[in-house]
Formats: sequence, C-alpha cells, structure tokens
Amino acid sequence: MEIQEEKYNILKLDPDQLESFLIQHGFKKFRASQINNWIWNKKIIDPDKMTNIPAEIRNYINPDQGLPLIKKVNNSDPEAVLILVELQDKNLIEMVIIDKENHYTLCVSTGVGCPLKCKFCATGKMPYKRQLTSFEIIWQMWLAQHYLISQGEFKNIRNVVMMGMGEPFLDPQGAVHAAQWLADKRSLNMGQRRITISTAGVVPGINYMAKINRQFRLAVSLNAVSDRMRRELMPVNKKWNLDKLLGAVRHYVEATNRAVTFEYVMLKSINDQPEHAAQLIKLIRGIKCKVNLIPYNQAVEYFQPPTPDNLDRFQNKLKKAGVETTVRLSSGKNIKAGCGQLAGEF
Ligand code: SF4
Repeated sequence: MEIQEEKYNILKLDPDQLESFLIQHGFKKFRASQINNWIWNKKIIDPDKMTNIPAEIRNYINPDQGLPLIKKVNNSDPEAVLILVELQDKNLIEMVIIDKENHYTLCVSTGVGCPLKCKFCATGKMPYKRQLTSFEIIWQMWLAQHYLISQGEFKNIRNVVMMGMGEPFLDPQGAVHAAQWLADKRSLNMGQRRITISTAGVVPGINYMAKINRQFRLAVSLNAVSDRMRRELMPVNKKWNLDKLLGAVRHYVEATNRAVTFEYVMLKSINDQPEHAAQLIKLIRGIKCKVNLIPYNQAVEYFQPPTPDNLDRFQNKLKKAGVETTVRLSSGKNIKAGCGQLAGEF
C-alpha cells in the first residue's frame, strides 16, 4: 500500500533527510532542529504538544504510523531490563538496558533473527526474517530512553552496542547509518566511541568500517582458535575463514589506528583450555586489541560455561602474554537477556 503524502511520517527521517524534506516543502531549515529537539531531547512525538511547530508541518508527524512499540518488559533482574519490541510489520525483536551503576548501556538488535546461525546462540535458532532499517535500530534508543524516564529514572544511556539479535554487517551501510544518526549533533549527539558495532566476522563490513574511518568501536566475535573449531561453532567461517577475518581486522587497525575488541565466548571443554589460550595469543599477535572473555550464558543446552578455574587460568595466560583481557559477566542472564540469549520472545 502506498503511503499518502499527508501520512508521511517525518519522525522516521534522519537529520539530513528531515532538513531536505522541510526545504523541499517550503519550510525553513531551522524547523528541523526544533523538531529534533522535541523528539530527542524532550522525548515528545505527539505533534499536538509541539507548540512551536506550525500545523502544516505537524501534519507530517504521525506517531501512530509505523513506529516500533514496546510490547513487553521484564524488569525482574536488578542488572538488566529486557524489552520486547514490535515492529511495523509485527515482527518482534528484543533489546536490553544494562545497568552499569552510574549509567546504562543499551544493547540493540539489528535483525529479526540471524541467518549466520552460530551454534551457541538463541537468535541463530529462530527463523531469520530480515535486517532492521537504520530507523528501527535507532528508535530502540528512543524507546529505551522513554521507558527509563517513564520509570522516573534519569541515569543516562551512555553506550549503545549492536550486540543484540542479528548481524549488523549483513547491511554495513545501514548499521553505520544508524550509528551516525545516534552520533549526530542534531539528534542524540552521542560520542562515536560510545557506539560499538559487533560482527561475527563479516569481512566486507569490517572493510567498510576501515574505509569510512569513523570513531565507532569495532568488536569481532572470535570464539575459536582454529578454522575447524570456528567452522563448527560459527558457519560464517566457511565464507570468511580466520585468515581472511584476521587479515581484514589487521587492515582495519592499520587504516584507522584504532584497537579492536575480540569477543571470546568461553565454552566448557571446547575452547577454554590452556592450549586454546596459547593458540589465541598466537593468532592475534601484533594486532592492537583487547580480548573480552564471555563465560557462556546458557542458551543452547549442549554448551556449558567454563569452570571459574578454567576461566581464571585462561585470562591469566592472556594477561601474562601482555594481552589486555577483561571478563564480561553478562547482566540479565537470569531473565534470558544475556549475550546470545535473545530469541525474540519471552
Ligand atoms: S551470535 Fe550473532 S551472528 Fe551468530 S547467530 Fe547469534 S546473532 Fe547471529
């Protein structure tokens, strides 16, 4: 069904598109910053409340038309809020607000499901429908901020990580457009370094990040130390093996002079042994990076988290070799909001 112009929804336009739209329709450019102020600073999208916006422009503001909506919230975990979001086409995605004491981090989804089908991931088990548009990605931020305000919470969402459902680099331009929109001074004005795009190893996306050379952070979900192991855990390795993946990462680091974060989901008796740590050290030698060890959050029965001893031993070995290493204990795993646990329903 074609959208009639009178129902055109300028809430879905990025700052450049909004300015162009207004100019093309005979309005002054400064109206764009007034509208952005209502949307992003005041979190108001009801045109009737936008008192300084002329009625002719307000006709193009249609909050009832096609915006993602919060369907369900699970806030029973003190460290994380799991939110189910319904998209215009009724598809469901999840996002997670993670409480970091003095601020929040928002983990957003970029796909309805994910075709990469990593063996340990709940999202990979659900049917893949489609990628999200950049608007659907950034609107998760608006919904999260609006939700927190409605709860009387004024702590900031300081970081956004594209680590929810989906692989951002199946549409690198869309993911980067969303990141730029979040960072745009005219909308949310987030620091670029506060936005992380995480990939399972889609090389063209890494190359795209190298080419555009912005300050967004890049995280690469590595999880294995040999092609055989990685192919079994992450079928994406059949297309881009470790050689190609790490080649792209090295190129990215050289081109941008920025460090990369390697995510390493630790799976008991699969990739958590001292020899795996030794192989990992060898694999990433010379790459400006940090390693984030993530003890597995139960999502698929077959896999288990490492024992605390194995985790310690692994981390110490990396540290001894001079690799900056942190352990990320996922918040919200009790409500299935942890890394790899999102399944588009709860
Ligand atoms: S881990 Fe990421 S890339 Fe792999 S299936 Fe899950 S969402 Fe997709």
